[in-house]
Amino acid sequence: MAKALLEVEKLANYINGEWAEGKEFTSVINPATGEQVVQVPLSGGKAVNEAVQAAKVAQKEWALTPAPQRAEVLYEVGRIMKERKEHLAKLLTLENGKVLEEARGEVQEGIDMAFYMAGEGRRLFGQTTNAELKDKFAMSMRAPIGVVGIITPWNFPIAIATWKSFPAIVAGNAVIWKPATETPIMAFELAKIYEEAGLPKGVINVVYGSGSTVGDAMVHHDDIRVISFTGSNETGSHIAAECGRQLKKVSLELGGKNAVIVMDDADIDLAVEGIIWSAFGTSGQRCTACSRVIVHEDVKEQLEQRLLTEMEKLTIGNGLDEDVKVGPIINDAGMEKIKKYMEIGKQEGAKLLAGGYPLTEGNLAKGNYFAPTLFSDVTGDMRIAQEEIFGPVVSLIPVKSFEEAIEVNNNVTYGLSSSIFTSDVNRVFKAQRDLDTGIVYVNAGTTGAEIHLPFGGTKGTGNGHRDSGVQALDVFTEWKAVYVDYSGKLQRAQIDVD
Ligand code: NAP
Repeated sequence: MAKALLEVEKLANYINGEWAEGKEFTSVINPATGEQVVQVPLSGGKAVNEAVQAAKVAQKEWALTPAPQRAEVLYEVGRIMKERKEHLAKLLTLENGKVLEEARGEVQEGIDMAFYMAGEGRRLFGQTTNAELKDKFAMSMRAPIGVVGIITPWNFPIAIATWKSFPAIVAGNAVIWKPATETPIMAFELAKIYEEAGLPKGVINVVYGSGSTVGDAMVHHDDIRVISFTGSNETGSHIAAECGRQLKKVSLELGGKNAVIVMDDADIDLAVEGIIWSAFGTSGQRCTACSRVIVHEDVKEQLEQRLLTEMEKLTIGNGLDEDVKVGPIINDAGMEKIKKYMEIGKQEGAKLLAGGYPLTEGNLAKGNYFAPTLFSDVTGDMRIAQEEIFGPVVSLIPVKSFEEAIEVNNNVTYGLSSSIFTSDVNRVFKAQRDLDTGIVYVNAGTTGAEIHLPFGGTKGTGNGHRDSGVQALDVFTEWKAVYVDYSGKLQRAQIDVD
């Protein structure tokens, strides 16, 4: 399958518009089958430095290219991605494991982002305003920052890269991109698309390698002025500290412990559908995955039974099979982490209602599969209700009231996504006000963000920046205030005002 879709057996870095072959490699493994898909270079600081030098030169010209012309490249990128959607989706499933339907959705997210950000080429709005002195003009405008570094995780190998690289490029920056070593193929494909779309050489550079070598070299390179990172809290806080020491701008999108609240007046069938989709889609390996269900005690039993019935229907296996609904876990470390939380949950006194074990029957033995799992009688302070497990595991937490549901939702260190199922309009408005997360859904699960809205979270989910939406431009631009005095004399602000 891999051979039919990929024309190479080894990937190459893309630096200054050239495909640079590596010396050392590691294998990219299909988590559904355990088979090698391709080999990826393990580069080091030297490749990062070469990429930065090329990017510095390219960025000067690129910043002087009118933004509507920069945008034309993104329109073309979007057009090619659309044409290749099925091809990209299959490759994405091969490297990441997510089921084809979701892989197609992820590629679509990238296509949407291309056209949306291309539109920004004719906006990139600043403000004109009034100056406080006579015969003086004042405005604010966005300016590109220079060379920016983007570091992306394996769970959305193409969407997250488009959330970051498209706004960076339309704003006039040059990019160094380090994708996750587990999922490098989307970076290879996107670099090819950028090349075909006519992006000048050096404006995007892809450097493969581990976080501790390539990622670290990017974080510490003096000429990379911004790091935009998505990944775990552990890596994110380390990168933030390193960037802080260098006074380097850093944008972080980190983990989540997202909850669906089901009130006593909810449409239970709808809530079950929403929970199943957002908890077990991508095998729970989404930063916005539902991993807690906060349920009103009056409907707890009903919800439990309905969830168990629907969970039994989930087909688990290789995501390339169109009938499969739940794919594999990314790697052995991911499996070990999930297994560890099974023990923790049981020790804490949670009731295991379904799942709780790896699946090893037949073909499943070749890959990493974990049974969809439901814990009940969980309390909000248990570790399984507080810590990110990143697998198909849901904890049901019973509560007595709407107020308690909100409190339990907010009582975690993360603040990415939350959802409430209710038919009471007053509760809808109170919930959207009181849920302390960057994303709130009403009568829908915790996943399904659209690219023209800001994406990100409060508290431990990040550091206040947002990916996607027009807000993403704030990460990749500086605000510049411009004053033009046409009075012909020196006018002093705040002093010559009378
Ligand atoms: P990760 O282990 O933190 O890795 C993320 C990226 O950082 C990878 O490319 C990794 O490289 C690199 N990296 C590792 N150590 C580094 C270092 N010292 N310096 C620079 N870069 C370094 O996270 P992950 O396991 O791939 O991703 C899962 C996490 O991402 C989850 O916590 C999930 O919630 C979060 N996530 C958040 C969002 C959001 O928008 N909030 C979206 C998706 C995922 P290598 O892996 O190649 O070594």
